[in-house]
Amino acid sequence: QREAGDMGKRIILADPRGFCAGVDRAILTVQTIVKSAGSGDSHDSHGLPPVYVRRQIVHNRHVVEELASQGAVFVEELDEIPDEAARAHTPVVFSAHGVSPLVKNEAKRRGLNVIDATCPLVGKVHREVLRFVREGYEIVYIGHLGHDEAVGVVGESPEHVHLIEHEGDVAKLDFQPETKLVLLTQTTLSVDETADTIAALRARFPWIEMPPSSDICYATSNRQAAVKLVAEQSDCVVIVGSANSSNSVRLMEVGQEGLDARFSAADAPAKTGACGKAHRVDDASELDPAWFEGVEAVGVSSGASVPEMYVQDVIDALRGMGYTGMESVETVKENMHFVLPAELRRQTSR
Ligand code: SF4
Repeated sequence: QREAGDMGKRIILADPRGFCAGVDRAILTVQTIVKSAGSGDSHDSHGLPPVYVRRQIVHNRHVVEELASQGAVFVEELDEIPDEAARAHTPVVFSAHGVSPLVKNEAKRRGLNVIDATCPLVGKVHREVLRFVREGYEIVYIGHLGHDEAVGVVGESPEHVHLIEHEGDVAKLDFQPETKLVLLTQTTLSVDETADTIAALRARFPWIEMPPSSDICYATSNRQAAVKLVAEQSDCVVIVGSANSSNSVRLMEVGQEGLDARFSAADAPAKTGACGKAHRVDDASELDPAWFEGVEAVGVSSGASVPEMYVQDVIDALRGMGYTGMESVETVKENMHFVLPAELRRQTSR
């Protein structure tokens, strides 16, 4: 174990971090539509924008603001989109988090030109719900109540999908041994916390079946594993990501757990000043110098919806505070890539 303070002020950068394949694809979907509309001008001859996006395309404030400045119009619900948009065939993009069948049906009823940017890994969970319900299962779904992804998945079969958030919710469930039971989860959960909830579920319902493959996606697991390692060598951790980004908030929690483990170990370094805390910021402007009092090593990572430039801004700001050393902790190389939604490929190839 290194003593804090023996290597100078430095940044320890997690790799992988930032954009995942699903976010990349969703953002590129909107950018492609805006670009093919042909101008920075935000409205066509009907007074309509080049694209409507239902909900935040990805949970990052900066990404949404940037796309909005290019002409994309974000709405919370489809009823905010005028009927002329259906007649003008204006694209309506569904966000990476997916939607429930109610939303899809409403879009169909109104004749909207839907481009579905749901991440294929979220789409996989939707399909699993449909398959297991068809096969007569009740589904226990671990997710965050009210999160767009959870709302979409539960919406596939509200009467058969039972959402729980934490280990503490397991006691509220009641199934008889003759009930076929399977577990599915949100893609952006904490790997460790979910393992505890699964253990509690297995203790109460030993016959519960696990999903064919983990629903927690590769990007979530990879980013959490890297942050864990980074935190174990850092005095504090800074995660770049928005407050409504599930995977960014989980990264901050994993960072905090890693710091707790580091500072409670038998050979722990002295915990001076502000050491031992994980923080989340949307960008460098939210960094508080008080967080770095007595801190030698700052661990840095970012959520799956965060453009790298905001991480670089944080690094620059930390450099300005004297963190001139730089180390990187690389756990795995990612090479996942998803093609653009089929509807978009068809429409842009015309
Ligand atoms: Fe898809 Fe995972 Fe990225 Fe979510 S975090 S968009 S599930 S790859």
